[in-house]
Amino acid sequence: MIPVTKPFLPPQHEYEKYLDGIWQRNWLTNNGPLVNELELKLKEYLKVNHLLFLTNGTIAIQIAIKALDLTGEIITTPFSYVATTSSIVWEGCKPVFVDIDKNTLNIDPKKVEAAITANTSAILATHVYGNPCDIDALQAIAQKHKLKVIYDAAHAFGTLYKGKSVFEFGDVSTASFHATKLFHTIEGGGVVTNSAALLKRMAYMRNFGHDGPEKFAEVGINGKNSEYHAAMGLVNLSHIEAIRQARKVQSEYYDKVLKNLKCQKPAIAKEATFNYAYYAVVLPTEETTLRMVEELNRNLIYPRRYFFPSLDELPYVERAELPITRSVCNRVLCLPLYHTLTFEEIDFVARIMLRVQNN
Ligand SMILES: *Cc1c(COP(=O)(O)O)cnc(C)c1O
Repeated sequence: MIPVTKPFLPPQHEYEKYLDGIWQRNWLTNNGPLVNELELKLKEYLKVNHLLFLTNGTIAIQIAIKALDLTGEIITTPFSYVATTSSIVWEGCKPVFVDIDKNTLNIDPKKVEAAITANTSAILATHVYGNPCDIDALQAIAQKHKLKVIYDAAHAFGTLYKGKSVFEFGDVSTASFHATKLFHTIEGGGVVTNSAALLKRMAYMRNFGHDGPEKFAEVGINGKNSEYHAAMGLVNLSHIEAIRQARKVQSEYYDKVLKNLKCQKPAIAKEATFNYAYYAVVLPTEETTLRMVEELNRNLIYPRRYFFPSLDELPYVERAELPITRSVCNRVLCLPLYHTLTFEEIDFVARIMLRVQNN
């Protein structure tokens, strides 16, 4: 079976090394020493000032929205994982969807500007597949209209924009360290900000609003993560360069063997150093796409339609006129990509896709 992804598992003894310390300290969660160590190492690796390790990438978006006091309308992309939209709705705001750029598949800044109303409080954009949005254009629009910006950087671990971590940008950038992501802590997420005040606020929110044992700074939630998850992160971080390098080689091999596949690949921003988080192709028609899925599945290969459907088709939001997104959602496939995927397996995937195309 060839799934779309497989979680990375480090050598078991590397993880077990951390367990003795956890047993000795009898400190399992609540901002323990391994959580602190992971936060420090992640800040070093990503070269960012402030980062909090959280339960998951969804609570990260929710805490960001809450900490920025967002209300009313948030302009967002319909081409992302459901958590990007559901977090907006969960926080009592209204997602306003604008279409994506047909080349990058990221939110189109021109359409963002056209959608701004008196009720708009922020832009929530996703760096789709780890490919940075047009950050310069979005920041300029946000500054001009005094809007906050949150980047859902769940796919963008290790991506650089103009030589800096993508997490540097926006009021808050959020991360997911879920098992299926490039870097993972089994379950986990993070918020990154340049603002010390915002960091403090989000740190309170992560821990029920506690300011000492008997005092509460403000409304909070439980966004804490455990020593066990932090330990997995510490081990996995030591493998991240090898993981990324393997995916680069695999992606380039896909490029080679799929040379004759009629498809569009997302245009990586020229300012970016890409992280090879996903290998996506947009095929000529939905019919071809579905035929390919069927034939791949018959051979126990499971690509995923990331993303399908367009998020404005969720039952709890208002639909929008989004011709590009609609068309891309119908035709996009993410192909299997994970550290142990072999060239033979990639050959097999490619052969089937080319056979379907040529039939
Ligand atoms: C995975 C993902 C999330 C949610 O992260 P979790 O850690 O699974 O909660 C949010 N946005 C995007 C784009 C994602 O891919």
